[in-house]
Amino acid sequence: MIPFNLPPYVGKELDYMAQAVLVNHKLCGDGPFTKQCHRWIEERTGCPKALLTTSGSSALEMAALLCDLQPGDEVILPSYTFTSTANAFVLCGAVPVFVDIRPDTLNIDERKIEAAITDRTRVICAVHYAGVGCEMDTIMDIARRHNLKVVEDAAQGVMASYKGRALGTIGDFGCYSFHETKNYSMGEGGAVLINDPDRIEAAEILREKGTNRAKFLRGQVDKYTWTSYGSSYLPSELNAAHLLAQLEAAEEINRDRLASWQDYYDQLLPLQEAGLLELAQIPEECAHNAHMFHIRLRDLAERTALTAHLREREIVVSFHYVPLHSSPAGLRYGRFHGVDEQTTRQSERLTRLPMYYGLTAEERAQVVDGIYSFFGRSR
Ligand SMILES: *Cc1c(COP(=O)(O)O)cnc(C)c1O
Repeated sequence: MIPFNLPPYVGKELDYMAQAVLVNHKLCGDGPFTKQCHRWIEERTGCPKALLTTSGSSALEMAALLCDLQPGDEVILPSYTFTSTANAFVLCGAVPVFVDIRPDTLNIDERKIEAAITDRTRVICAVHYAGVGCEMDTIMDIARRHNLKVVEDAAQGVMASYKGRALGTIGDFGCYSFHETKNYSMGEGGAVLINDPDRIEAAEILREKGTNRAKFLRGQVDKYTWTSYGSSYLPSELNAAHLLAQLEAAEEINRDRLASWQDYYDQLLPLQEAGLLELAQIPEECAHNAHMFHIRLRDLAERTALTAHLREREIVVSFHYVPLHSSPAGLRYGRFHGVDEQTTRQSERLTRLPMYYGLTAEERAQVVDGIYSFFGRSR
């Protein structure tokens, strides 16, 4: 059986976790492993401040809270995304305004954003699907002209970039996920990247139960106190220790995933050339991270048939987002602006192939053979 996903494991995770327990005697948040993860993200991406969180979802919640939204404010985002992207803003009382996606990258269609802006719009949330960057120059230009904040949902975008800039560092706030299904894992976890230095202190307070404890620990104040609203968004050192082992191996993990991705691509290209399926398109300005390998079939019926065909060969593939705007919560909390030309159609056609660190050439060949046999083709 070829699973859809296997959590990455590089070898040092348990040593580091043991060190947290037996040497550092520090299991709560913001110990030495957490600090090393922060430093790794800051050095790798160039963002002024990275803070680990308990999930990608809580990173998005922190970003939404740092946007100072008022009830009824509007946030523009794609409908083709994970629920957490919308939930973060709905929890602040804001209204998600869904905009259609581009047929090539499946990212928000930047040409359709401006028409969705009203006098209540405060934020654009760009989701970098599959670790492929949105058209950020255009999005940042729209945001600047309309005085909007930009949140990047870069949950899938660690180690990927747009025009040489790390995903998550271009907008006001960037959100990473280190869930076990992502490229680098701490089980459950994430990080928020604070790109505006003036918002770092507010982010630290929000993450530490509304206190200025971070300042206290740096010796900048002699006692700490409740200074604003907040919650507890910091993960345990155990999780950070697991993550650090993987971040230290990030080049190797990324290289391995990109090699698997390219191999799938090369092997499936003849089927695209025969007009039987569609492969991902990566714009020239984007360096992706092989977070996923997706293919698009003719329609929902063909995707369902392929899924069953591969299942018989013990190969697990997985469809992806059911559009949010037509879901029960999407209908209740938000609205779709304009016409859904791509979102539903592309969502119904797409499936994702097994993709994980350590995927072998034999496994890929089996998946590719399964797809060729579905189309009645030989290689
Ligand atoms: C995974 C993911 C999230 C949520 O991250 P968690 O760590 O699972 O909370 C949010 N947005 C996108 C686009 C994701 O892929």
